[in-house]
Amino acid sequence: MADAPKLKLRSQLIHPSGTVPQGFRSLSVPVYRASTTLLRAADVFDHWDQSRYPYRYGQYGTPTVLELSARIAELEGGTHCFIAPGGQAAITLIQLAFLSSGGHLLMPQSIYSSNRHLADRLLTRLGIAVDYYDPLIGAGICALIQPNTQLIWCESPGSVTMEIQDVPAITAAARARGVTTALDNTYSAGIHFDAFKHGVDLTMQALTKYVGGHSDVLLGSVTTRQRAHFLKLGEAHQLLGMSASPDDCSLALRGLQTLAVRLSQAEHNCLTVAAWMSQQDEVATMLHPALPNCPGYDLWHRDFTGSSGLFSVILDPRVTRKAVIAFMDALHLFKIGYSWGGVTSLVMRYEVPKRLGGVPDQTLLRFNVGLEDTRDLIADLGQAFAVLRRHRPARKRPARKGRGSK
Ligand SMILES: *Cc1c(COP(=O)(O)O)cnc(C)c1O
Repeated sequence: MADAPKLKLRSQLIHPSGTVPQGFRSLSVPVYRASTTLLRAADVFDHWDQSRYPYRYGQYGTPTVLELSARIAELEGGTHCFIAPGGQAAITLIQLAFLSSGGHLLMPQSIYSSNRHLADRLLTRLGIAVDYYDPLIGAGICALIQPNTQLIWCESPGSVTMEIQDVPAITAAARARGVTTALDNTYSAGIHFDAFKHGVDLTMQALTKYVGGHSDVLLGSVTTRQRAHFLKLGEAHQLLGMSASPDDCSLALRGLQTLAVRLSQAEHNCLTVAAWMSQQDEVATMLHPALPNCPGYDLWHRDFTGSSGLFSVILDPRVTRKAVIAFMDALHLFKIGYSWGGVTSLVMRYEVPKRLGGVPDQTLLRFNVGLEDTRDLIADLGQAFAVLRRHRPARKRPARKGRGSK
């Protein structure tokens, strides 16, 4: 074979002929970045399903992205998984793949707030009707299913308010009526709750939380066992341009290796901190699914294999907003910020929803308990409660009692 002609500098920089030694092996998944994927021939056609039509375009995933989707599918006991650029993107992927104009969506009142905003502001604009049901409705969901119901969403425990849902009862009712079900399984990280065993069709996670685990990446996943759902999701994933960055996926792949260890430490830390918190006079109601007198505990005990690092408390209505803010500002180790599932403890302030019996200005605090030493976390909370107690309580309001008590 004749030698290739010597290239000029600019061409040589783009078509180099240097080589590196073969045979490299390591424990990490390589980061393959690509928009263009080299095709083997000129007559191939475009298709998102790269398991059948190998590597067509970077948008459908490089091997790094597909490695993550295979590992999430394995973790959740599914057969197919799509990676999205965030948990909210994974939610959007499901909603737009399974809903159409004239259709009807059922969502729990305890739903993650951005999912609620998507439904109220965008899905209704597309002609999709949305109804919110009591998260503790169980088999009673039957009465809310309409002929045009296309999707029933579950989230267990609920974001912020922590209700555990009777997912098997809801999915059984949905199946009897031929309605697809989706579960936001972020809390359990795909470990503590087996979505498919409990009848769910589609399970999604914000990998941003426990899988990423270090507060530095945004990713989401949608997993299914059904080929028909895989095809629907794949098409929507392509049409919506839901590609995830291989660099981000490599962080999630690294996080996955310590996921189980981190989660069990978070569970232990959280239970320790929650037990201390439940003894504080200002705490009216504990919202932690693994505490026996919390709403939904029986379902948690029946269906879950563990709990995570998240809990909420409803404060006594006499604790003023000013006192709560002073408490939060006084914390050193608990940082103030959205999201959760990382190594750092966090706290966020919410109003108690009316459906939980909240009165105006009554505070709910949500804690993400991280991987610090719980003795330090409790000391931090203790000194912040001392600051809170310097504020005079509000005059007693006629408080409606929240569900459950500490
Ligand atoms: C954070 C979160 C999401 C969204 O995840 P992002 O990656 O932040 O978009 C979805 N569901 C639940 C329950 C969450 O906590």
